[in-house]
Amino acid sequence: MGRVEGKVAIVTGAASGIGRATAERLASEGARVVVADVNGPGAKEVAAAIGEDRAIGVAADVSDEDQVRAMVDAAVSTFGGLHILHNNAAITSAAHMARDGDVTGMDVSVLDATLSVILRGAVLGCKHAIPRMIESGGGSIINTSSNSSLGGDVVLTAYTAAKGGINSITRSVATQFGKQGIRCNAISPGTIMTPSVASNVPKAVQDIMERNNLVPRLGLASDVANLVLFLASDESAYITGQVIVIDGGTSAHHAHISEMLQLGATTTNQA
Ligand code: NAD
Repeated sequence: MGRVEGKVAIVTGAASGIGRATAERLASEGARVVVADVNGPGAKEVAAAIGEDRAIGVAADVSDEDQVRAMVDAAVSTFGGLHILHNNAAITSAAHMARDGDVTGMDVSVLDATLSVILRGAVLGCKHAIPRMIESGGGSIINTSSNSSLGGDVVLTAYTAAKGGINSITRSVATQFGKQGIRCNAISPGTIMTPSVASNVPKAVQDIMERNNLVPRLGLASDVANLVLFLASDESAYITGQVIVIDGGTSAHHAHISEMLQLGATTTNQA
């Protein structure tokens, strides 16, 4: 008996990275999964790899309400209900991220596109999934936030704002629909070595991130998929409205301490 046996899930941004790993993990524990992505062929490829009996691939731009409605309808018409939604899609291309700078240099088209996919996409997902989850006897929504939502950044003004919005909508949905059996949590990853990070983030920067982790490596998509599985399953039945950090400990300490240790410091007395 799998940990999410008999449940139906939608994962957005599931053609790649964290979404792909989550779709595969949920299916491996008994869920039937809608693999949704703006990259339709990529979504279908992931679904085919999972297996036709367990998954379907759906082309869906999460910022478009008609496509989100159709994505939710596809879950219910194919698998007979809906219990899990992982709102995970984001624009992660190097070209897009490079244009998301500080606030005075803000390119409004980058702000609009970022908010549209991350925040509007998650809100639309909740809007259309929740009624079907209630009809299905309850459900769990997991929104992908980011550690970028927890502190200021020298760049990524639009991305940090969108992820901060994810944390807020998570608490609102949990508050509004908890009594009807809907839980809603956000996950806040630190650096996860997905294909987009591997290609967008220079090795020297990856090394800084790894040095500032408390564990001896950077995160993997499978680490995040395991957390999503837990939050999707009934094992987490008493957890809702939370932003759960998964970052190898990066945010659990002052970043400059790792630099002090590099210098051979034996005390970190900062008084
Ligand atoms: P990824 O690029 O591998 O996956 C993102 C997916 O989203 C892609 O398949 C892309 O096609 C899809 N997508 C983009 N726009 C879409 C749209 N309009 N509608 C539907 N799908 C769309 O990236 P990833 O690293 O796996 O990131 C997944 C999530 O995790 C994102 O929300 C990202 O912000 C978040 N995150 C990642 C990291 C990390 O280090 N990898 C850290 C913190 C947060």
